[in-house]
Amino acid sequence: MSGGMGARSGEATGPKPAEGAVCPGGRLTGATEITLANPKGDLRRRQLGELHRLWHQGVRDSDPVAKGGVQRHGGTGKWQAQVKFRGKVQWLGLHEEREAAERAVAEFRARNPNHRQRLLASVRRNHARSYCERTLLAERARIVDVRAAGVEPVLRLATDNGRLLRCGAGSGILTPEGWCRAEDLAVGARVMVAGKVPRPSEAAIPPSLRRGIGVWTSMQRSRLIRPLGACYVCGLSFPRTELELDHVVPVVLDLSKALDERNLSPICAPCHAVKNAEEQRLARRAGMIAAARPQTVVMIASDGVEQTYEVVVEEPASNLLADGIVLKGASREKPAASR
Ligand SMILES: [Zn+2]
Repeated sequence: MSGGMGARSGEATGPKPAEGAVCPGGRLTGATEITLANPKGDLRRRQLGELHRLWHQGVRDSDPVAKGGVQRHGGTGKWQAQVKFRGKVQWLGLHEEREAAERAVAEFRARNPNHRQRLLASVRRNHARSYCERTLLAERARIVDVRAAGVEPVLRLATDNGRLLRCGAGSGILTPEGWCRAEDLAVGARVMVAGKVPRPSEAAIPPSLRRGIGVWTSMQRSRLIRPLGACYVCGLSFPRTELELDHVVPVVLDLSKALDERNLSPICAPCHAVKNAEEQRLARRAGMIAAARPQTVVMIASDGVEQTYEVVVEEPASNLLADGIVLKGASREKPAASR
């Protein structure tokens, strides 16, 4: 890679997506902000370096009372030094001079600072904002690990809506064409960023069209479902008569996939009922919903060498939001190259 801050120019054509599984997870600088989502959907951002510190070291509490000191020892007339430390009294000897006893106390306190590290269970329950890679709708995924990933060359990437991300050159970034390494992106490429889309509406699809889609879909059953097939949601096996065909990307979300047989998968009746109910709930509310949207890369440049970190999120989500850009999560197994 070329050093310095020289802009990487390239044709404004789309990037070449990396083979899905081959594209590595993102490696981010400590100042990168990860978007966290709570169960109510409230979002907050936290710097990755800080999250890494909390994850592995927890918080440092100071002991509010540092008891101890120097007192005259009745029997000998000497000066007795003692300190209360972690609930126990530490005897620091008898001293001829008061100053010597006080020095012993001060030295002990300097060697044994009165605070303790405490791991926070709540840190391990954090969920990241992530996106369904088929529908691009926002989801949340539990963070499984946050780990240091070594010192490596970093790229700085900016989008036309002002997102700025600094990440390792090989980091997987979501584009409309699929996952792509940051180093394969050029100015003019598009990357997926946090955004909002109008909530899909059932009203947008006339009832006659919906009926037609239903008829066409059931005609594909005998062709697309094996005599003994598996439900793509729960993974259990069923005879064909107990399986239906489901639009994986719902018709209300993307009408262009309504008659695309690659968008049809066998589903058992109980799973279908749950999925349909969720989709109808979604389609009935008005307003905007969170989804990943494409934005154009306006700048990409080498930006030094830096300590990087990676984040593992719970399956099946494999992505997270880093400084507003959809980034591939690291794999659970530590790659051999990482330190
Ligand atoms: Zn099922």
